[in-house]
Amino acid sequence: MLLRRFDLHKPETLPALFDLLDRHGEEASVLAGGTELLIALKARVLHYPHLISLKAIAGLADIVDAGDCISIGALATHDAIARHPLVCRYLPGYAALSDNIANIRVRCAGTLGGNLCFAEPHADPPAMLAALGARLRLQSATGSRECAMADFIHGDFETDRQPGEILTAILVPKPVSGHRAAYRCYGASHRPVAGGAAAITMDEAGKCSAAAFWIGAVCGRPVALEQAALGVIGMDRAEIAQALPALIAPEIEALEASDDNHGAGDYKRHLAQTMLLRAAQAANTVAA
Ligand SMILES: Cc1cc2nc3c(=O)[nH]c(=O)nc-3n(C[C@H](O)[C@H](O)[C@H](O)COP(=O)(O)OP(=O)(O)OC[C@H]3O[C@@H](n4cnc5c(N)ncnc54)[C@H](O)[C@@H]3O)c2cc1C
Repeated sequence: MLLRRFDLHKPETLPALFDLLDRHGEEASVLAGGTELLIALKARVLHYPHLISLKAIAGLADIVDAGDCISIGALATHDAIARHPLVCRYLPGYAALSDNIANIRVRCAGTLGGNLCFAEPHADPPAMLAALGARLRLQSATGSRECAMADFIHGDFETDRQPGEILTAILVPKPVSGHRAAYRCYGASHRPVAGGAAAITMDEAGKCSAAAFWIGAVCGRPVALEQAALGVIGMDRAEIAQALPALIAPEIEALEASDDNHGAGDYKRHLAQTMLLRAAQAANTVAA
């Protein structure tokens, strides 16, 4: 189907962007790489008479060292993130995830901000960013605020973002000593059917001092396996490897996985368990 007619705006500053959003209200949508939005517009699932491109606004794609965290601009593409020296150095598990999204065309055009704001449930970044303790910076005409990645996605295509707000940056804490994180997913037709993210921190005595286990793509929003994460505290690596399958089983069983064209709920729970165990195994090894 052909796109319906729209006006394309290209503001060069955030105040100009907020002015356009205020002026056009629900008739406008921001546009980043367009890999999700243009498909929805072409299918006529969505229609906006005004599209406001973020691309001319300086700084929105920057990836910088912000002291205790790496700040990833919302307009950074998956490919730019996968190759950025700061991400490769401090967040190698996230660089690997970015390098595995979709295909090279989508990775070079699609942005992390677009991925998170669209909140398509079959996505890779949310679970891993939640496991890494990331915070999202949202900005509007009246100021900025931060939202934990863990709280940002409410469900299928629903987020905490308010009208008039845009996502400007994703702040990912630099890992502390002994911290290691990994993500594993299984996908069909590019998108993940189930993903598992694990972050494990070992103290100097070789005992686990912190852990986070998250499941993505299965339930509409990323889900934390909180009891399993608490259960491994104080264990050494061998004990974690032995105990984890039984520790995660009840929370995997409780996942509200719906049947859809990606598979049946039971199948997704099985994949989620396998992906999480693989991610945990990778996070539970000594860094090379
Ligand atoms: C064939 C295909 C395969 C894919 N496979 C995968 C996969 O394996 N794993 C995966 O995780 N993802 C996958 N994706 C999704 C891909 O990651 C997203 O399409 C991409 O990241 C979206 O970014 P974009 O810049 O193109 O967003 P756009 O399409 O420009 O925007 C998407 C939505 O987000 C809003 N938006 C964008 N940026 C902002 C912002 N900064 N602030 C506020 N709102 C904003 C827009 O208004 C729009 O509603 C796939 C997509 C395609 C088309």
